[in-house]
Amino acid sequence: MLDLNRLFSNNRSWAARETTANPAYFRELAEGQEPHFLAIGCSDSRVPLELLTGAGPGEMFVHRNVANQVFPADLNVLSVLQYAIEALHVKHVLVVGHYGCGGVQAAMDDTRRLGLVDNWLGDVRDVKRRHRRELAELDHASARFDRLVELNVLHQVLNLARTPVVQDAWVLGKHPKLHGAVFDVRDGILRSLVAEVDNNEKADGLIPMA
Ligand SMILES: [Zn+2]
Repeated sequence: MLDLNRLFSNNRSWAARETTANPAYFRELAEGQEPHFLAIGCSDSRVPLELLTGAGPGEMFVHRNVANQVFPADLNVLSVLQYAIEALHVKHVLVVGHYGCGGVQAAMDDTRRLGLVDNWLGDVRDVKRRHRRELAELDHASARFDRLVELNVLHQVLNLARTPVVQDAWVLGKHPKLHGAVFDVRDGILRSLVAEVDNNEKADGLIPMA
């Protein structure tokens, strides 16, 4: 386990390594950012988006919350989204879910003991209700859990597509393309669920018939 001092010590080592490799590295980084990607992931400590994709500083704008939610009324995610699209001109927006997600698990079990996060997870519970038939056809609880993680990602990509920010961007041009992926903590692999959603026709086809 890392204690707090280790974090600062590791930071010094990292900064020294980068500077040794390229003495101009931080000076160039300080000049600004032009990331091509916005990634929206879960706050889970096992899903470090930059680390697992090899995205370096300056390459990925990131927003994380419990269960990678994109609420149409969440000023936080909307602010990030608008800034990423209108100021940074990101080309791709990815929603990254992960198997074993505690937030999705809580919605799956319908437990009410986590506090405020129970309110936060209302949309995942809706996704579960909407797809209850498909989920019921799966034999094992683990398969139902995995599938709800995937369905949650698809619904969050649809929520993204429906935001005025993305709608306006699509009217003006092609970007951003929306993507959904799921990370498997069990093998470290990020798998694509849906890619290249860049118009309403594709967005309409995101969700399997409930
Ligand atoms: Zn999670």
